[in-house]
Amino acid sequence: MISFNVPPYVPTAPGYMAEAVSNHKICGDGPFTKKCNAWIEEKTGCQKALLTTSGTTALEMAAILCDIQPGDEVILPSYTFSSTATSAVLPGAKLVFVDVRSDTMNIDETKIEDAITDKTKAIFIVHYAGVSADMDAIMDIARRHDLKVVEDAAQGVMSTYKGKALGTIGDFGCFSFHETKNYSMGEGGALLINDPSKNEAAEILREKGTNRAKFFRGQIDKYTWVGYGSSYLPSDLNAAYLWSQLEVADEINDDRLATWHKYDEAFKPLEDAGKVELPTVPEDCVHNAHMYYMKCKDLDERTRLIDHLKENGVYAVFHYIPLHSAPAGQEFGRFHGTDEVTTRDSERLVRLPLYYGISDEDVETVIKAVNSFYE
Ligand SMILES: *Cc1c(COP(=O)(O)O)cnc(C)c1O
Repeated sequence: MISFNVPPYVPTAPGYMAEAVSNHKICGDGPFTKKCNAWIEEKTGCQKALLTTSGTTALEMAAILCDIQPGDEVILPSYTFSSTATSAVLPGAKLVFVDVRSDTMNIDETKIEDAITDKTKAIFIVHYAGVSADMDAIMDIARRHDLKVVEDAAQGVMSTYKGKALGTIGDFGCFSFHETKNYSMGEGGALLINDPSKNEAAEILREKGTNRAKFFRGQIDKYTWVGYGSSYLPSDLNAAYLWSQLEVADEINDDRLATWHKYDEAFKPLEDAGKVELPTVPEDCVHNAHMYYMKCKDLDERTRLIDHLKENGVYAVFHYIPLHSAPAGQEFGRFHGTDEVTTRDSERLVRLPLYYGISDEDVETVIKAVNSFYE
């Protein structure tokens, strides 16, 4: 069976992990964490990046740093992973779900403005499949209405929009380094802070509400509890694992893109024949091949396709029950406007195996299996 995902791994990982262990100190903010933070800052151009324990906790930090208060509203797509929503619920936000665009499955920027009320505090956008949402339009709306923008760039490491790295355009960007993502530290993520005036608040929040980071820089002579906080630092051992991949980030990216393009070329005839829809990458976007998906006619056809692929040794999956139809989505939020695309397309979308190092032979098997279904 061809796996849907194999977590990225490069052979330098054990050596770096041994190095991390060698000084018997693997707590947070060690040498490998610092290297990873610096890599993110250099690669993305972000003024400050902090590794976190997950993409979810990076989103939680962003939500708190947006100063969301109980009763404030956050606008977000319904077609996303629970973390986008649950991070906004943490400080007490009411969720306002907006429909997605069918071409990219990103939030429909033309439907945002109508969802804004005097309670709206922030827009949480998702760069689905590592393809950017329409950030010019979204930032324009946000600035005109004085709203914060959080980019859930969990899937968008190494992607850009008009030359800018995803995660560096809104007020905050959030990366995930979960093992299902392009770069992995097992569990982990990063917060990208684009407004320097939030740096200190972010450090305090991440360090259990203390000004410890300032103390370590020698800016104060003792540290103390100064505000709300939690613990969002990953172990340096995990950072060492991630570092082995960041060092060869371009190679991993190129390998994924090559697979993505093989699929895309192979399935063009099916699209031309009107049998499937393939992903769209808008002109301004450079993506990272986080995902290859296609859309079937309907739910029934998708179920039959997935079964057919399984019979042919290919494990394909779908995802995201729209959050507004999930029990917690109904409790914490509402859908604004009409759901034209979200539910319909969530039932048609199927994701094909794509991971760093997938063999040409396996890619061929997947292509043949899909084609034989539509013959
Ligand atoms: C993976 C993912 C997350 C959560 O990341 P974790 O590191 O698993 O916490 C959040 N949002 C989106 C869109 C994701 O794909």
